[in-house]
Amino acid sequence: MAVSPGDAEHLAAAVAAEFGVAEQTVIELLRDMLTPGITRPGWARARTAASGLLRRSLQRLIPGLRQRAAAAAEHAVTEAHRIGDRAARAELDEHHLPPGPDDLDTTPADRLIRALDEDFEPAYARILRQPQDVYRDVIARASAGVLEGQITRRQAAQRALDDFANRGVSGFVDSRGRNWELTAYIAMAVRTACGRAAVQAHADRLAAAGHQLVYVGAPGGSCPLCAPWEGKVLALAGPPGARDIRLPHATRALHTVTVHVAGSLMEARAVGFQHANCRHGISLYLPGVTELPTAPPGAYRYEDLQQQRYLERQVRRWKRRELAAMDNEGRAAARLRIRGYQAQLRELTRETGQRRKPEREQIDYAH
Ligand SMILES: [Zn+2]
Repeated sequence: MAVSPGDAEHLAAAVAAEFGVAEQTVIELLRDMLTPGITRPGWARARTAASGLLRRSLQRLIPGLRQRAAAAAEHAVTEAHRIGDRAARAELDEHHLPPGPDDLDTTPADRLIRALDEDFEPAYARILRQPQDVYRDVIARASAGVLEGQITRRQAAQRALDDFANRGVSGFVDSRGRNWELTAYIAMAVRTACGRAAVQAHADRLAAAGHQLVYVGAPGGSCPLCAPWEGKVLALAGPPGARDIRLPHATRALHTVTVHVAGSLMEARAVGFQHANCRHGISLYLPGVTELPTAPPGAYRYEDLQQQRYLERQVRRWKRRELAAMDNEGRAAARLRIRGYQAQLRELTRETGQRRKPEREQIDYAH
């Protein structure tokens, strides 16, 4: 049974959910702190005076969140490592091969857990800081909007709060310069770490059992980065560079077979193979026995998967808008948009046969 980075997706959802709940709390906190007395004179002054209360509420949120997130992250990565090991054992067992030593080295998993905790730090800083800026901004814009006499103060405040709800806690930029929502950023970081832990444990188990070759699966819906590696043989370790090697036939003792090796696993990864969310797994390659796969016809297209991610982002955006709404009209309008995007998702998944991912349509990612 092959293991791919994408297999760790469900583990990431539990960690992202902790941050999603915090983000919802923040939106509701802002809404509830901005609404009182909004039609009365002196609103701006009274709300500004209450900003210390907002700061203290946000500060109280962080320690518990940090503790729950760290525990959830440790659980997720440890579980991913176990999944990878178990998958490799099952594969060896299928071929009636011994599994090697009892325990695998868990140092790679421990390192991934520590790195994840560091990845979370910018999120805590922003959850603390950004809502305070938004609060001040809403008060300022609501006051200015009313002075111009075009709209009511409530409308002006709602617009400013909606701008925040559209993005949620934001400002997360990855190494490729792309912007992420808070929960998507956390989920991406955890998926990446879990994917690495699972894939590493799987490869480590096969190597510990004395094997040196694996092959790359061909699930279809290839991302451009992985397409060149589909159905190819890779060396678990060893020098880089494609080469032909003669190896003993796995079951017929007197025969040898020539195997074309496309490169080493490390080499493939260095150029993007098994990136985050990748659905390409590796499996044990047995010379003379294993038949290399090719992508099935009608497999998902990359663009369709991207379109699904876009629609999921819109659903999450309008769910935040629903929370930010200061009145029933705003809530009803947001719900209408949510249903519209969900209908598009139903249509898309029905047409393409892609699996719908309900956890990606939640702003708290799991609850
Ligand atoms: Zn891939």
